[in-house]
Amino acid sequence: MITETLDLKITRTAHSRLAETDFNQLQFGHTFTDHMLVADYADGEWKNFQILPYGELSLLPSISALHYGQAFFEGLKAYKQQDGSVSVFRPDKNAARFNKSAQRLSMPEMPEDLFIQSVAALVDVERDWIPTADNHSLYIRPVMFATDPYLGVVASKTYKFVVLTCPVGPYFTKPLRVKFETQYTRAAEGGFGYAKAAGNYAGAMLPTRKAIEEGFDQMIWTDAKEHLYAEEMGAANVMFMIDGKLITPSTRDTILDGVTRDTVLALAHDMGIPVEERRVAISELVEGAKSGKLTDAFGAGTAATIAPIGTINYQGEDYKLSDPATREFSNKLFQTLNDIRYGRVSDTHGWNYKV
Ligand SMILES: *Cc1c(COP(=O)(O)O)cnc(C)c1O
Repeated sequence: MITETLDLKITRTAHSRLAETDFNQLQFGHTFTDHMLVADYADGEWKNFQILPYGELSLLPSISALHYGQAFFEGLKAYKQQDGSVSVFRPDKNAARFNKSAQRLSMPEMPEDLFIQSVAALVDVERDWIPTADNHSLYIRPVMFATDPYLGVVASKTYKFVVLTCPVGPYFTKPLRVKFETQYTRAAEGGFGYAKAAGNYAGAMLPTRKAIEEGFDQMIWTDAKEHLYAEEMGAANVMFMIDGKLITPSTRDTILDGVTRDTVLALAHDMGIPVEERRVAISELVEGAKSGKLTDAFGAGTAATIAPIGTINYQGEDYKLSDPATREFSNKLFQTLNDIRYGRVSDTHGWNYKV
């Protein structure tokens, strides 16, 4: 249902970089397509929607996003379907979450139709950039930031909305060794962990770097109060199979309500697998790893897709899990998810938004 129609100006580049781009060497987020979409918020409304050649923006160093962090983003993907058509995966969910983030950061919302049409219009212009190889897609990165040029700690009155697109391949290519992070905290109750706020990721960089220096690929964030419960894995949701049940931390204000998470839970339901959304104690996971009842563990996110956890570490002790290649659930899940996204099976949930 379209209630708002996008008034969009398109200026195409005269110098496409498509022919000189090596699609076999894509590093995640390094290759941008020829165009971007930009729009402005001022006088209480969104305006000046434009698609233009990807390039520099002219901004003052006083803009409040740089000083006080009124900035957040979204992440979704477009896929080239088996029949050659193009679809974006569940953009309605991202549009809704975009507005949740905006609300929490005291930033303006965008009518969901405008968000979806913006994304779709850019994907349409860039459709030749969508890779066709297995596990490849066009990553879509909408971002909004505050542009009032003065140093007052108040919500800006003007904002910029930008959408970028990147052809991407797999994010993680091997099973992950992760540790439970019990010193640093990603998000606390009453905070804004559930928003895709830029500041959440800045705060994660030091702990992530330290974890990598210690030989881990990622960490599992734990609750801020006691560091006894699993929350998320890096910038992905985290899921476990114990005793044949799919278990994942329930969403709350410290947890990002992932679209992939929601998708996985729906597919598990389709497969007849019991799902538990609740607090997940580290002790339960460590016991499950020891007894062998923990038969599957993975991160779930748009960028990471389904990222198998090979080893979990708690208080310096490594617990090796089963070989990811032998895991029944996550392999079937990954296959089904890809079959839907690439249009190889019928999209019974109506998740593919055709461009
Ligand atoms: C984006 C993100 C996720 C995953 O959300 P998706 O909608 O599945 O991409 C999970 N956790 C964090 C912290 C994130 O930033």
